Amino acid sequence: MSLTQAKVASGSDLVDPMATLRSLREAFRAAPFPDRQERTRALDRLLTLILERRDAIADAISDDFGHRSRHESLVSEVYVTAAGIRYIKKHLRAWMAPEPRPVTLALQPARARIVPQPLGVIGIISPWNYPIQLALLPLAYALAAGNRVMLKPSELTPGTSELMRTLLADAFHPDHVAVITGGPEVGAAFSELPFDHLFYTGSTRVGRLVMQAAAKNLTPVTLELGGKSPAWIHPDYPTEKAAASIAMGKLFNAGQTCVAPDYVLVRRDQADALERALVASIEEMYPGLVDNPDYTSIINDQHRERLQGYLADAEAHGARLVTINPASESFEASTKLAPVLIRDPTEEMAVMQEEIFGPLLPIVAVDSVDAAAAYINDHPRPLAMYVFDRDKARVEGLLRHTHAGGVSVNDTMLHVAEEHLPFGGVGPSGMGAYHGREGFDTFSHRKAVLHQPRLNSRFLLAPPYGRTIERLLDLLI
Ligand code: NAD
Repeated sequence: MSLTQAKVASGSDLVDPMATLRSLREAFRAAPFPDRQERTRALDRLLTLILERRDAIADAISDDFGHRSRHESLVSEVYVTAAGIRYIKKHLRAWMAPEPRPVTLALQPARARIVPQPLGVIGIISPWNYPIQLALLPLAYALAAGNRVMLKPSELTPGTSELMRTLLADAFHPDHVAVITGGPEVGAAFSELPFDHLFYTGSTRVGRLVMQAAAKNLTPVTLELGGKSPAWIHPDYPTEKAAASIAMGKLFNAGQTCVAPDYVLVRRDQADALERALVASIEEMYPGLVDNPDYTSIINDQHRERLQGYLADAEAHGARLVTINPASESFEASTKLAPVLIRDPTEEMAVMQEEIFGPLLPIVAVDSVDAAAAYINDHPRPLAMYVFDRDKARVEGLLRHTHAGGVSVNDTMLHVAEEHLPFGGVGPSGMGAYHGREGFDTFSHRKAVLHQPRLNSRFLLAPPYGRTIERLLDLLI
């Protein structure tokens, strides 16, 4: 018996995922096109839940992580999600409106338009690193587009996932939004369900499995994946400024961010200056680490060991490690990990092959902008890229010669916070996007509709074919 047929423990209840999907689908069929007011009411319920329970949300995430900075939770989980929902509400009328399209001469006087239609039941699988934002923002876009949703949050943040389950159960009818909790086995079964669309955020490795499972039902997928996002600093750009931005992007959530700068490319003769600037910048932001409420823990022992393994492997392959521990603290009993710069990294090191997802930052020395572009192009297309350069022509050149899901120029990570911009990867860092208009479209079918008026020219094309159609074809062809 596959897990799709089995019952899954979710909270105190036993849930049958297939039966849950069936009842969501029946409810959708009974009300397949919620109007804007209904959708806005659903968004308001979600917004209220996030705003009213912000403290419970920050506490639950902190418990799950060992420690998660409260301010980082308020920014990345509460503010970003609430701002996203407010943005959706503001634009919903325009997004829902049918879009008129011109009609070619041969079909005139017909009328053509695109009608955005809810897809039906959406499956959402979310990761642990921003457990609220990455579950509830896709949920908001799916609800805005008029769908019903089944959500499978991460097992690595069990307290937050359980909180989300109870909050959503209070705010939504189970035929509107249903939450199923569990680990990889539940995720695998979940991705085999015949959803109308499956939205997955997580690693590239699991993304492949999700797409394979969805392919069996021809369920369309959006894959929000990860990868190694590079930062390039042009020699003309002030090193301290670039270092401050990179350090901030790297150490927000202790580097456990899909768009964190993974490594820095810098011209060889500037690598030492960059190292000094990064150390100074990190020490200024975090004078201490172990008891510093601003510095977030690594999610669990396994991930801490993974990161320590990268360091041991890098050192064994000849890297120089620069550990930044301004108060000379012991991390032995801590759930945190000190930031480490990795000098002279080489390709055979695991840290240069895997997405780091932690507070380790390799500094890769190259000889020129072209060498930096070549390095980026020699590696899988990343989710994000950061360019520090004030020369517009050079920036445009680099943008044209490299691929990345999205880019911030002269800063890190902020392109993702801009709700007007779509957010998604390219190739191995993902497919499809959400945020902004693209978020609404991802969860809609843009249906092509042609209206034939009472008086029309169809009779000209009907058999028996004779001189009329031949004259017409002469004209058209
Ligand atoms: P993960 O792939 O291990 O898990 C993500 C989700 O998938 C979890 O809910 C998990 O239970 C589920 N899952 C596990 N095995 C599954 C299977 N076989 N089939 C279906 N679902 C399964 O990822 P993670 O460790 O939670 O997150 C870290 C990764 O996610 C990083 O690579 C990061 O870059 C990426 N990420 C991407 C974005 C983005 O928006 N592009 C955002 C955050 C994280």
